[in-house]
Amino acid sequence: MRKYSVTLLPGDGIGPEILNEAIKVLDCVCNKFGFEIQYKTALIGGAAIDETGVPLPNETVDACKSSDAVLLAAVGGYKWDTLPGHLRPEAGLLGIRSALGLYANLRPARIFAPLKNTSPLKSEIIGESLDIMVVRELTGGIYFGERGRKEQDGVMSAYDTECYSVPEIQRIAKVAFEIAQKRGGRVCSVDKANVLESSRLWRETVIELAEDYPDIELSHLYVDNCAMQLVRNPKQFDVIVTSNIFGDILSDEASMISGSIGMLASASLSEGSFGLYEPVHGSAPDIAGLGKANPLAMILSAAMMLKYSLNEQEAADSIESAVNAALKVARTPDIAGDDVPIVSTSQMGDIVCKILQN
Ligand code: NAD
Repeated sequence: MRKYSVTLLPGDGIGPEILNEAIKVLDCVCNKFGFEIQYKTALIGGAAIDETGVPLPNETVDACKSSDAVLLAAVGGYKWDTLPGHLRPEAGLLGIRSALGLYANLRPARIFAPLKNTSPLKSEIIGESLDIMVVRELTGGIYFGERGRKEQDGVMSAYDTECYSVPEIQRIAKVAFEIAQKRGGRVCSVDKANVLESSRLWRETVIELAEDYPDIELSHLYVDNCAMQLVRNPKQFDVIVTSNIFGDILSDEASMISGSIGMLASASLSEGSFGLYEPVHGSAPDIAGLGKANPLAMILSAAMMLKYSLNEQEAADSIESAVNAALKVARTPDIAGDDVPIVSTSQMGDIVCKILQN
């Protein structure tokens, strides 16, 4: 039997509730497709602060490093809001991402057909459904480049530097090409090569690497045009690959096309197939413990883990289909629709499992 090990980081607020539902669903697909996942649970965020005094204990990092993948729910809450920055729950998030060397951020912008009315875009633009993957470089570029301030003749100025090396660009482009091979086979590389030298190197490098992927159709867009195209004609995109800063902005724009934060999954990958998978939303302390949280972003994050780290593509696809089917018969309050009953967090997990078992 195929066996995998996964570290679970429930965190705070709605985190433990939604993670329970994802485990329920994973148990269903393990039975259905004949593989086994062994779980370790570790502390992060406010839960870790309460227990150990720090948001990211060393044992948590060790547990994650010795697993095939990590499922993280969410961290943060009112209780810890007055602590100094380095001791707040969110410091645990930044810490784990850097400790695990996660350099590729994957943000699917997806509209399931039953939810097409929740998109802020007109239905003729969305069509029946939408499925874009934004691949963002996560550890380089202007957010990590040289920066500073200087004063000359009494005038203060500040600068930040965008710098990318060929290996950094090759590494992220390779991720995008390989993901496109598992999807629609198209990659759009986004840069600002009409102005920036770093973008010109980006584009040259991506074009050169594309020779190794003759099955992929590669196109290029300037970032300003891409921002427009995402709302004008989002269906033209399959995989978008871009730098850290452009990806930060474009992935938020693309994901909001789906119109619902409770549906957005994400993955961050490092070398090999290791990855950390988490919903885009936070710990929603306003609804924690009330059974109102939408567990689908967490469940879809688990599906991404099956696809990209555990290579259980069929199980991943079956979860995505089950989520689509579940949305036709039930909704959590955040995505309530006419004529569809409202259900609790755990009922939504049960419905997805029931569909998977049929
Ligand atoms: P949030 O995403 O937690 O909540 C924003 C709004 O969306 C709230 O009204 C919430 O009820 C709703 N919401 C979020 N997820 C939902 C879900 N699954 N189902 C139904 N409704 C959902 O963002 P926030 O309120 O700005 O932050 C709350 C806490 O979460 C803060 O402490 C913040 O620092 C933290 N946070 C953590 C992460 C993370 O763990 N990755 C990300 C963002 C914010």
